[in-house]
Amino acid sequence: MMDVSNLLDNLNEPQRECVAGPKGSSLVLAGAGSGKTRVLVHRIAWLIKAEGISPFSILAVTFTNKAASEMRARIEDLLGSSLRGMWVGTFHGIAHRILRAHYEDAGLQRDFQILDSDDQIRLVKRVILSLDLDEKKWPARQATWWINSQKDEGLRPKNIEHMDDLYLKTHLVIYTAYEDACLRGGMVDFAELLLRAHELWLKKPELLKHYQNRFSALLVDEFQDTNSVQYAWLRVLAGNNDNLMVVGDDDQSIYGWRGAKIENIQQFSKDFPQSNTIRLEQNYRSTSNILKAANGLIDQNFGRLGKELWTDLGDGEPLNLFAGFNEIDEARYIVDRIKDWISQGNMRSEAAILYRSNAQSRVLEEVLLRSQIPYKIYGGQRFFERMEIKNVLAYMRLISQPHSDSAFERVVNTPPRGIGSKSVDEIRGFARGNNISLWDASQRLVENNFLSARASNSVRGFLDFVVLLTKKSEQLDLEEIVELVVRESGLKEYHMKEGGERGQARLENLAELVTAAQTFDPSFEYLLDDDGLEPEESRLSDLEEFLSHASLEAGEQQAGDSEDCIQMMTMHSAKGLEFPLVFLAGMEDGLFPHTMSMEEPGRLEEERRLCYVGITRAMRKLYLTYAESRRIHGNETMNRPSRFISEIPEEVLKEVRMNNTVVLNTPKRKIRDGAVDGTDLRLGQRVIHEKFGEGVILNYEGNGTSARVQVNFNSGSKWLVVAYANLKAVG
Ligand code: ATP
Ligand code: MG
Repeated sequence: MMDVSNLLDNLNEPQRECVAGPKGSSLVLAGAGSGKTRVLVHRIAWLIKAEGISPFSILAVTFTNKAASEMRARIEDLLGSSLRGMWVGTFHGIAHRILRAHYEDAGLQRDFQILDSDDQIRLVKRVILSLDLDEKKWPARQATWWINSQKDEGLRPKNIEHMDDLYLKTHLVIYTAYEDACLRGGMVDFAELLLRAHELWLKKPELLKHYQNRFSALLVDEFQDTNSVQYAWLRVLAGNNDNLMVVGDDDQSIYGWRGAKIENIQQFSKDFPQSNTIRLEQNYRSTSNILKAANGLIDQNFGRLGKELWTDLGDGEPLNLFAGFNEIDEARYIVDRIKDWISQGNMRSEAAILYRSNAQSRVLEEVLLRSQIPYKIYGGQRFFERMEIKNVLAYMRLISQPHSDSAFERVVNTPPRGIGSKSVDEIRGFARGNNISLWDASQRLVENNFLSARASNSVRGFLDFVVLLTKKSEQLDLEEIVELVVRESGLKEYHMKEGGERGQARLENLAELVTAAQTFDPSFEYLLDDDGLEPEESRLSDLEEFLSHASLEAGEQQAGDSEDCIQMMTMHSAKGLEFPLVFLAGMEDGLFPHTMSMEEPGRLEEERRLCYVGITRAMRKLYLTYAESRRIHGNETMNRPSRFISEIPEEVLKEVRMNNTVVLNTPKRKIRDGAVDGTDLRLGQRVIHEKFGEGVILNYEGNGTSARVQVNFNSGSKWLVVAYANLKAVG
């Protein structure tokens, strides 16, 4: 045997048992940070080096492509050689690979196409229309969801009992017709990849045998998030070979809404009775205080498989709990702590800001940008780069610059209004030929009836719409313009119909853009007149200012891949990762737990597991922050601190407030007494302005003569320079 001792270095006893144990199925059931992923990596290296198994005979399943490439790199590191031929990927990726290789046996066309979720909903919609069903009664997104849940359970239309229930019956009809359409068009959706790969095993025993012989070891990370069909696929592939090792943590199951089944963990022990169950209890990631918080929280869930975690890393610091006055205050606090972190010589990439939903990133992004701290949004896009946001901005751009060709191209047929790519090509050609903008070109083409009647109508509709927007927008505030565009362009409806988590997130982002417009501060780079407002002539319109702000945020300061930057992501995308410094932002009831899950115990428990995932990402320092009032999705809300905070043992929490501030009680809520340095104003104070009337100070910046305050007047909020604005304190 080769020298393999290095593969067992830095492993504890039960970990070694997993890594160097005899061939055979095993379940590693263990809490966060106990080394499950590490064990998996070492096991693979062990199989190759100590057992002499070829990488070609190993199949490892992880939950993202990034996790897969990390796993590969870590194994190569351990082995000191490259790993060719090893299969490591996601369930979907592996199913896809098998279906490509055996498309005929799987009953697919050679060049089958994969439908992403958008495509899928569009196709279901066409099917619904072709069945002469009322789209309003039978929304495509609901039908798509229903079809996918059947597939996730391994059910084809023929397996579903024919019932009298109209809802089921109709969806069954849609499912059947959708299936036909997919087959005819050679299209495969995500759920289909898995189901078909499973059916392939059942249908082609020789092929199954081939793969069973090929793979002498199957390994799965994050097993708690497998759904029924994924598990069935694995079980069949493992057969009687007794070679399946799965690792997971029931407390980290966070994809129930997508069909994941925690029960698969118990099912595994039943299906593989000879398997060995190993528990790991020592956590190597986090300080004891962080673990106590996590353990205390998750203890509130019922029906857990029960695990205790301990660490010998010492208590560490308590968890910091910060209450921001509003979401900007919260973001500022986080960014200030990040500055401290960096100034202490730490890497930016060691700090992560985690949040429940994507729309929360915007305020944080803005404050990071102002502070010129590079950041990266992981597993998602930066706010102003999101497709739905860029679409709205393109309409706004056309209001201010109808000749912007890129904006024109972007939205001329978004949402779809029957302007096909052929018409767009014609417009483009005409514009190029005459050296004019797409806007002018389409106007001339329409006027001279150069387009087909149908295309001409649609293009005219689009042009008229933009002209109408332009006219209306003259009377409106920035935020009203955003609202107008979102509503009347049809984009809102378009994303509403799209449905599902993704459609929901897009709608939230659209609403968040309204907030961005509400709180947008155009005065930053401009000279101010006596009112504390900018002189009219010298400034761009708010609209133009906002657009350039948006494009700057989207483009220029984007951190490169290799640049050391702050990591931002949703808690879902943080699964499996770890960071020395972690912020959980927006710890408020309604935001987290999300409103949609507060009523239903099952979903609330899933949110709690998500919070457990969030907390256990932290290695050394953990901050929980919330805002007493928050503008999000276009509304101002007053949320209570998340119930999850109260479920964390008090002794590990430390409430922090800003330096030298006194908490002042108002009947409604606590307000941080942020005195504006060098002035006699402070946050929360009521003031009167000659023009705008009475308002409350929401926010401030700078001090002395350059101090500026944001005041919430009846007419909306404004940034004013204290030295000029002549504000009088009230009360
Ligand atoms: P999660 O549930 O979050 O996916 P996990 O159980 O997969 O966590 P790992 O990510 O494998 O845990 O390990 C957590 C951290 O602890 C990693 O930094 C890992 O390198 C380290 N670690 C694990 N086991 C040991 C050990 N025996 N000695 C030293 N460090 C260890
Ligand atoms: Mg892991």
